[in-house]
Amino acid sequence: MSARILVVDDVPANVKLLEARLSAEYFDVMTASNGAEALAICARAECDIILLDVMMPDMDGFEVCRRLKTDPATHHIPVVMVTALDSPADRNRGLEAGADDFLTKPVSDVVLIARVRSLTRLKMMTDELRMRAITSLEIGMQAPERTAVADTGKGGRILLVDDRESSYERLAGLLAAEHTVDVEPNPTEALFHAAEGNYDLLIVSLDLNNFDGLRLCSQARSLERTRHVPILAIADPENSTRLLRGLEIGVNDYLLRPIDKIELLARARTQIRRRRYTDHLRDNVQNSIEMAITDALTGLHNRRYMESHLATLAEQAATRGKPLALMILDIDYFKSINDNYGHDAGDDVLREFAVRVRKSIRGIDLACRYGGEEFVIVMPETDLHVAGMVAERLRRSIAGEPFAVHKGTKRIEVTISIGLTTLEQKGEAVADVLKRADTALYRAKHDGRNRVVSHAA
Ligand code: GH3
Ligand code: MG
Ligand code: MG
Repeated sequence: MSARILVVDDVPANVKLLEARLSAEYFDVMTASNGAEALAICARAECDIILLDVMMPDMDGFEVCRRLKTDPATHHIPVVMVTALDSPADRNRGLEAGADDFLTKPVSDVVLIARVRSLTRLKMMTDELRMRAITSLEIGMQAPERTAVADTGKGGRILLVDDRESSYERLAGLLAAEHTVDVEPNPTEALFHAAEGNYDLLIVSLDLNNFDGLRLCSQARSLERTRHVPILAIADPENSTRLLRGLEIGVNDYLLRPIDKIELLARARTQIRRRRYTDHLRDNVQNSIEMAITDALTGLHNRRYMESHLATLAEQAATRGKPLALMILDIDYFKSINDNYGHDAGDDVLREFAVRVRKSIRGIDLACRYGGEEFVIVMPETDLHVAGMVAERLRRSIAGEPFAVHKGTKRIEVTISIGLTTLEQKGEAVADVLKRADTALYRAKHDGRNRVVSHAA
């Protein structure tokens, strides 16, 4: 996995040093010597991760980070601040600016590579989701970026796994200022608890008595229900080699004891914000899949889905030697409903029509909105005779009960005409079946509407 890392530092020697180490691990490295240059590179989406020096003339690293994180186009790029001193004040300023992590100069090779690898994994996953979610933007769904930039990261649900009472009492107290916190002092219960609780963040102590906290982290990573919940590990400084192992198996971030309050809150917020963002992206992907096959007004399948699925159903029917019926339904004089009662009333009729259709058909039948006020129903394993009875029942369910429009203040009579046919011979083109149903529909209209006409091949 080759990620493009942008190294930003005003001192050329520092740039060279990081560049050499990262290149040795086969990362693609780009460099910039000031904030403006770095922002330009990010705006062109040319890098995956940024290693950002704090002390630079003109625009310091905090400001660069703040600008990246408040711009919807760049906020998802992980930023690692590189500080000369390990000062908590600096760290906290960076975290407030939205930095994802910190490295202290001189930068340890192992820590550098571990952090960059872990952030690369995260970036790849986010990119994949972003790419898929772009389709949903094209059909007008809300941009997840805008929500993400505005998210404070507060109000999360956190599960804290720690068996030392003095430790968890203090941590839970600190976190409670911004989040809802549950404490699980029993590590053997923790996985179950995490899977049940719908948490935004797991905080796991790696200094548990008689229990390997990393095992819990790795189990949480492989369990479906907890796979996407971020993990923040907490460890004593002498356990730092285990932290590196943790980052490799999917721990997202860590804190060393003694825990600084501001840093704890900032890191928790960052993880929660990120979690919400990826969840949002995932929902968008899911929605765009549904939207691609569903008609928004009626919730029935759309024409595109029907046409591709019909071919499959026809093939199945032919190979199994079963009949397949298809009907086209068209609302009578629908234009005059719009003209007399308004377009909204027309929409109400279409929605209610879909509800009645759904009630009249089986689960394996496929109902779709074929056009404006035209619908198609495909019925597997149904012959012309049975389909005729279903069609007649449908016709009656529409004509028999007036449709409520304008929030129930008005009721109007609606009728439909139905053209019906069946797939006749093996390998018959789906288009021919539709055409036959359409001819039958035309006859139903011509013969006076509010009726079913069958057309055997
Ligand atoms: P016929 O009995 O011959 O089918 O007459 P009709 O008026 O139903 O048929 P026509 O095709 O002339 O008119 C269909 C109307 O449906 C025209 C169009 O404006 C309306 N329509 C199409 N889609 C929608 C929609 O989503 N909402 C509403 N309210 N009207 C729609
Ligand atoms: Mg019509
Ligand atoms: Mg029509």
